[in-house]
Amino acid sequence: MIEEEVVEYYKFLYLRGHVSLLSGNISVRTDDCILITPTSAPKPLLTPRDLVCIDLRGNVVRGERRPSSEWRMHVAIYRARPDVNAVVHTHAVLPTILAERLKPGLLAESESYLGGGIAVVPPIKPGTWELAEAVAAALARDNVAVLKKHGVVAVGPALAEAVNRAEVLNDIALATLAEIWSGGP
Ligand SMILES: [Zn+2]
Repeated sequence: MIEEEVVEYYKFLYLRGHVSLLSGNISVRTDDCILITPTSAPKPLLTPRDLVCIDLRGNVVRGERRPSSEWRMHVAIYRARPDVNAVVHTHAVLPTILAERLKPGLLAESESYLGGGIAVVPPIKPGTWELAEAVAAALARDNVAVLKKHGVVAVGPALAEAVNRAEVLNDIALATLAEIWSGGP
């Protein structure tokens, strides 16, 4: 069941340090709606029935909770990218701080996993349409974006690819930091 997948993948992201207890959000596009994590909940403890189904305008179709405060960002991405069926937003610290300095070329396979470059979005107030539209525009060609002073967005045709891209971006950040520490080129 896709709801169980969302809940399980969220735990992976939490356990690997990509999000804190209340931060971040995940959504998937299903046949009839966008299934998204709720706002203001300790997300590693979510159960499938805590998820909320919204339409492409943000109206709640199913579910008892309120959708993530970043629902606008998820909706804007799905509107702009018909090929995308999963959106992952984390607050991973390293890629967020390194942003333009990230070097995907340090890890040979990372570029093929990302399937594009790393977009960088300037600091914009969270939860706004302004941020949603800036992220959707940044992801017109790329599958990962760093939101400066905020976090990371990764997208994919399914949840596994989107989560993997968030992890690969974190690996690139670790490699970049290691290179800086070791006084690399
Ligand atoms: Zn955020």
